[in-house]
Amino acid sequence: MSQETATEGDLRNTGMSLKHDREWDYELDRIVEEIEERDADRVGLQFPEGLKRRGPAVADDLRALCGDDVTFMLSGQPCYGACDLDTYLMRRTDVFVHFGHSPMKESDKIIYVPLFSNVDPFPILEEAVDELPEDDVGLVTTAQHMNQFESMVTWLETRGFDVHTRRGDDRLTHEGQVLGCNYASADIDANQVLYVGGGKFHPLGLAMEHPDKHVLIADPVNNVVTVADTEKFMKQRYAAVHKAMSANKWGVIFCTKIGQGRMDTAESILEDNDNTYLITMDEVTPDRLRNFDMDAFVNTGCPRITTDDGPQFHKPMLTPGEYRIAVGDKPLDSLSFDTFHGTW
Ligand code: SF4
Repeated sequence: MSQETATEGDLRNTGMSLKHDREWDYELDRIVEEIEERDADRVGLQFPEGLKRRGPAVADDLRALCGDDVTFMLSGQPCYGACDLDTYLMRRTDVFVHFGHSPMKESDKIIYVPLFSNVDPFPILEEAVDELPEDDVGLVTTAQHMNQFESMVTWLETRGFDVHTRRGDDRLTHEGQVLGCNYASADIDANQVLYVGGGKFHPLGLAMEHPDKHVLIADPVNNVVTVADTEKFMKQRYAAVHKAMSANKWGVIFCTKIGQGRMDTAESILEDNDNTYLITMDEVTPDRLRNFDMDAFVNTGCPRITTDDGPQFHKPMLTPGEYRIAVGDKPLDSLSFDTFHGTW
């Protein structure tokens, strides 16, 4: 049995599993320093879904460093972004540590530990530059690779590129950073944008938000270079809109997660349509909506729920912009990606 398996789920085990964990830097020293500085007794720890299994071992190591006077509590709430802080736990702790995402909004109580990837992006950049025909290029990446951003800019510059970067808006912490719901950092003066990172969602959003640009994806995790293609995605979204066109009763979802609330958007839909019902919830899942007798839903929370998980819901699930098309307020060709701006 590996160290990690042996310590999993056992808060009493003061094992040293993290000493063997070379993938992520949990910045334990910085956390301990901040706990001591604030004289904190109760500390909340929140991990994204993919790293929750590491939570007990991190708590073990922190307890070994801080002693018995400090109580550590793990958040069991789902977490997919810095928009998704566990506010219940945060209110009941002196210090709240949020792992895995860069800050969406700073606060004295919250310590953000970004957990940068240790994957080397330069081998895949070497392949990607062959696919960039022009000298001007925009560069964007996700929070995980942000620690390499400056080096990537320099690397491209030494190969003759004029690299354009900007910090999108205050939902984003860093220059060049993109989120699944915000691609404002790619509003740059170049015809081509290089996205360094994994996953399909970000480059799709990027290409939809910037249809006039050539979006090249350099994925250092899967070691592939591809061009973002929105066609299949657009077809899927048009199909959902068409299905919803005959809907009479609409459920309008307002997400209560701290960084996902768009009440103005929800209210403008409710004001214009008597056959709409506001549904408030934190986690938006197919199971939770199944018992509502609606013909279609419009989601004002995280856009990924609508576009990534959309087909799993029992009724069509649309973004606010798609809703306007389905009810005839806007033309079909106005279909665009759903984005969020600002914080709370
Ligand atoms: S709203 Fe969704 S896409 Fe935006 S940061 Fe939160 S989880 Fe990510």
